[in-house]
Amino acid sequence: MACAKTDGTGLVDGKVAIVTGAGGGIGRQHALALAKAGAKVVVNDLGGARDGTGASSSMADHVVEEIRALGGEAVANCDSVATVAGARSLTQTALDTFGRIDILVNNAGILRDKSFVKMDEAAWDAVIAVHLKGAFCVTQPVFQHMKERGEGGSIINTSSTSGLLGNFGQANYGAAKAGIAGFTRCLAIEGERAGIRTNAIVPIAFTRMTSDLPIFGGQNKEAEIGPQFISPMVVFLASDAAKSINGRFFFLSGGQIKEMRVVMNEGVTKAADAGLWTAEEIAANIERILA
Ligand code: NAD
Repeated sequence: MACAKTDGTGLVDGKVAIVTGAGGGIGRQHALALAKAGAKVVVNDLGGARDGTGASSSMADHVVEEIRALGGEAVANCDSVATVAGARSLTQTALDTFGRIDILVNNAGILRDKSFVKMDEAAWDAVIAVHLKGAFCVTQPVFQHMKERGEGGSIINTSSTSGLLGNFGQANYGAAKAGIAGFTRCLAIEGERAGIRTNAIVPIAFTRMTSDLPIFGGQNKEAEIGPQFISPMVVFLASDAAKSINGRFFFLSGGQIKEMRVVMNEGVTKAADAGLWTAEEIAANIERILA
């Protein structure tokens, strides 16, 4: 039985969604919002600490209880997204429980911030493994399933301003999140003919991941910039109302929704028969190139 549609959407009635890292923060809000909009939800969460250490089933179990209390359908899964085996087990949980997968939200993530000179291999590998490899591990079996079933689907990845714009102390995280942006663009092209849409969100929200960052200043953090603001866009992207939306990036924070784009300017062009640009000519034209 689908949840009572208290928010009036019902946009994803009967669809089956996997949300990774849905035991807390933004992912929990996605899981609750998708369930309220009528989806059956696989609540995945490894249940560890912010830096990725430890594991527990309690976070995923708790969100499943919350969804069931609302009258929705959900199942918990505690596999790590960072391994192919874990991701296949997660996908199998969805198929065994609900028989299909229509929506995948790649949301799981960890942080190991360090200035670049101090960043060790372990901090690099752990962050890349959960965010970037994790997106590959989970998306591939889901994508295969969607393609074989032939009814399309919606994949929603989670990038970050740290990846698209940069941030001090987050070379590992920014690289992973920029990698997810490229992954999103390539899958949007590969999935198009099969009706599999891939988009990405670029959130900023007050969660355990960001609770100690100075960016939130004196705001009433939960009320003004809480993770609940992020999820309506995910419900929309997951729904058939977004059938024409593919390969897009949406910045979301508080009440703000903005599309983020890669732009190429007019630049300068030298005629094919005019030879190579010289470094001196580039220096002389740099203002026009950057205009
Ligand atoms: P969060 O720490 O509350 O949520 C991340 C969740 O992922 C946690 O519940 C954690 O247990 C789970 N997780 C970690 N490793 C896992 C693994 N290997 N397998 C399965 N689950 C795992 O943080 P959040 O702020 O809610 O972040 C959610 C996503 O949004 C992350 O991808 C994060 O990078 C991204 N993001 C957040 C912000 C922000 O402002 N909060 C900004 C940009 C991007």
